[in-house]
Amino acid sequence: MPQEPPDTPDINRKLFFITLGLVLLYAVFILPLLHGQHRYPIAYSRFKQFLAQGEVKEVELRGHHLEGTLTATAPIGPNNTTASLFTTAVPELGDPSLLPALEAHGVTVRVVDSEDASWQRLLLFLLPWLVLFSFFWGLLRSSRRLGGGINGPGELQRFLTRRTQKAEVPAVTFKDVAGQANAKTEVWELVDFLSDSARYRALGAEVPRGVLLMGPPGTGKTLLARALAGEAGVPFYPISGSEFIELFVGVGAARVRNLFETAKKNAPGIIFIDELDSVGRTRGTGLGGGHDEREQTLNQLLAEMDGFSGHEAVLVVAATNRPDVLDPALLRPGRFDRHVTLDLPDRSERVEVLKVHSRSMPLAADVDLDQLAAVTPGFSGADLKNLVNEAAMSAARHRLTTVSAVNFEEARDKLLLGTVRSMAIAPEEHHRLAVHEAGHALVAFFHPHTDPLLKVTIIPRGRALGTTQQLPEKERHTLPEEYLRARLALTLGGRTAELEVLASASSGADDDIRQATALARAMVSRWGMSADIGPVDLRESEEHPFLGREIAQPRRFSENSAQAVDQAVRKLLLAAEEEARSVIRERRSALERLIAALENRETLSRTEIEACLTHAS
Ligand code: ADP
Ligand code: MG
Ligand code: ZN
Repeated sequence: MPQEPPDTPDINRKLFFITLGLVLLYAVFILPLLHGQHRYPIAYSRFKQFLAQGEVKEVELRGHHLEGTLTATAPIGPNNTTASLFTTAVPELGDPSLLPALEAHGVTVRVVDSEDASWQRLLLFLLPWLVLFSFFWGLLRSSRRLGGGINGPGELQRFLTRRTQKAEVPAVTFKDVAGQANAKTEVWELVDFLSDSARYRALGAEVPRGVLLMGPPGTGKTLLARALAGEAGVPFYPISGSEFIELFVGVGAARVRNLFETAKKNAPGIIFIDELDSVGRTRGTGLGGGHDEREQTLNQLLAEMDGFSGHEAVLVVAATNRPDVLDPALLRPGRFDRHVTLDLPDRSERVEVLKVHSRSMPLAADVDLDQLAAVTPGFSGADLKNLVNEAAMSAARHRLTTVSAVNFEEARDKLLLGTVRSMAIAPEEHHRLAVHEAGHALVAFFHPHTDPLLKVTIIPRGRALGTTQQLPEKERHTLPEEYLRARLALTLGGRTAELEVLASASSGADDDIRQATALARAMVSRWGMSADIGPVDLRESEEHPFLGREIAQPRRFSENSAQAVDQAVRKLLLAAEEEARSVIRERRSALERLIAALENRETLSRTEIEACLTHAS
């Protein structure tokens, strides 16, 4: 049910139509007079030639100025373009032979009072400016009268964006969002709040204001936000962060203000800010000019969110795929303090996405969505939607009445070659990922002194292509040496498994090696865990007490000590790698089972890993 925002004053609408009328009048009647009949200036002598040859049809005399028409076109324009309209200047002293000559050739002569003409021209020249001026003046007046202060561009913006601000209740609901079980559960309670906020208020509950949806592109953030509004039956006010960034400073801030005003007046509702990162990057980091506007917009956004009195059931939902660059002020309590993460779908979730998007399609009997999900690792929800659509297009191109397996194959090839936005994974790479993560998981499972496994997945997340998550059994404050050594072995386990199973390493171990090296260095240089070094502080950086990151310090020890540290670090890492290798060699068959299971299901829970590793070993 579309709603007209009631805050657009009537006066604005009238003014708008009056201006529109004037502009149209100007365009239709007056512009052609000015520009439609362009006259080319020619020399007086040339004019006299034309006259002598009898080629002049009519002239108009305005003082020392003569405008005329030739009987046919002649090359008088720039670059010898032909035209018949010309203008020329009559000599200051006058030309006594002119009038008789005109008469002799039977040219129609009109004489225009030169003062009249200049008046006319002045008017023509001024009219557009008058129209523009009255337009802005009207805007300023109406905005001042409304108490909104002088805000020309803002009001103008409201004029021009009125249509896009029409809010409607989206038709999508949660059943259109496949998978994403966690995210859906997390936003479910917001549906209840939005559809019956009075109940919450009566109990004095502190109500949520901002929800931040995070996840890679195409995972359904926009879709989920729309579904949330659809499910709660409240209007949805979408705007993209990049739309806030305008050429003129202040326009973005005015947009934010208008958006919040409209939403509050029609509460309950959901304001959805897509691409929050484009407006919400950490302030003061922009290079050169141009970020003034962004900062102003961001400040306005923060002010609006703080300005909720707590009575409005207006929820601000934002989406980003770069939560790391957001200004910390956006994440404070009372702002975007609820975070919901959306991940790329795993195999079973991909089946569901495919089902959602193919539900209204005539599928041939040979289409196996489960098989299709198996060969599309790394595809996002949007990629899968695209795949289904491409398949239908392919079927239509081949004039088929159903969409069949070959169409899906064609579509997949096309997407893999070109346009898959996210990290589509080739089959060999998929296998290597499974080997790598299985290596981590195997060491984590069989090595004593490690935390229990929680989950293993080869679904890309953030920068990591796969992850092995552990659950610390208890909060640890000091870390025993055995635990740390086990941690090193586990961290290098992925790479070691690649070496054992595939006989080659890969760049996938980049982060593992970095982490392991940092840990080994701390063990050696800070915690005295290397017999070759002993309990000596040889650290080269200091943790900053407030910033929580390492700050480089001037070195207070000899070059010899530095070399000894490097050697001890290497020794620790090599020992850890050896440990990982022996676990892997001992349990090779368990590893193979884990690799197969991972490749097949992509995500394994704790119990699934246990079942896989302990059976028949
Ligand atoms: P994002 O905002 O995270 O980039 P979108 O919500 O714009 O992703 O997703 C684009 C399209 O992809 C959606 O309109 C929808 O058709 C499809 N899509 C994405 N994720 C899902 C999902 N989980 N279930 C069903 N369709 C999805
Ligand atoms: Mg989106
Ligand atoms: Zn790894």
